[in-house]
Amino acid sequence: MVNLEGKTAVVTGAARGLGKGIALKLADLNAHVVVSDLQKDEAENTVEIIRQNGGEANSYLCNVANAEQAVGLIEYTISTHNQIDILVNNAGINRDGMLHKMDDEQWQQVLDVNLTGVFNTMKPASQHMRERERGRIINISSASWLGNIGQANYSAAKAGVVGLTKTASRELAKKNITVNAICPGFIDTDMTRSMPEKAWETMVEKVPMGKPGDPEDVANCIAFLSSNQAGYITGEVINVGGGMVL
Ligand code: NAD
Repeated sequence: MVNLEGKTAVVTGAARGLGKGIALKLADLNAHVVVSDLQKDEAENTVEIIRQNGGEANSYLCNVANAEQAVGLIEYTISTHNQIDILVNNAGINRDGMLHKMDDEQWQQVLDVNLTGVFNTMKPASQHMRERERGRIINISSASWLGNIGQANYSAAKAGVVGLTKTASRELAKKNITVNAICPGFIDTDMTRSMPEKAWETMVEKVPMGKPGDPEDVANCIAFLSSNQAGYITGEVINVGGGMVL
């Protein structure tokens, strides 16, 4: 049984969807969770649920694409909780479109949030973890990193997250810090529910298990990677997708 008592976890994009599921799970396992997001009210709502369940959490507003705000998130957590044990980079957006029609803004916004946003928190958090010689970093990539029609921007950013994860895992291994990436397949969240119904059904048909995943399916994997039991696992890219990518 995983017990994260005494650990502090930062989860970005934790107001809803996967991030919310991850925050609830880590709090359930006794971690103190900093629920970070752009959306103030929804982030407060996640905190409220955690507290009602007897857990400990607080919220922090942060746009991960903004380097100063990302540093602010890490500094705030260290100053209020003395430490960051677990960093989960979950915040992400999609702005889908075919490559030949994709405008510069569509490209840049997705790269700024989904890739630069991960660098923006990892850099200050890894400085802190290096000093403590311990830590867990878990980055949310996507099955789309292998290439997906209409997602040149998103796939490129998520492939970048894999490269960033693997490089950081090598740089930080001697400091007892693990860095891993998770590639969710097709998970039932607002992001996927914004698809047209027909496209949703087509995606579900592509999942060998015949159903979309739940945020908790991803959260369970993160709970394990955050635990002491996973201390020798680093640089891995783990699919959580009901067999969608093998
Ligand atoms: P979602 O849209 O439901 O939630 C994303 C959260 O991130 C929201 O709370 C949003 O406010 C926050 N966010 C967006 N931009 C931000 C920014 N700049 N700074 C801070 N917070 C920001 O999406 P989701 O489905 O829960 O996806 C979460 C992560 O999982 C994303 O990185 C996404 O790419 C990845 N993912 C999702 C799926 C899926 O099937 N849902 C599959 C693979 C990967």
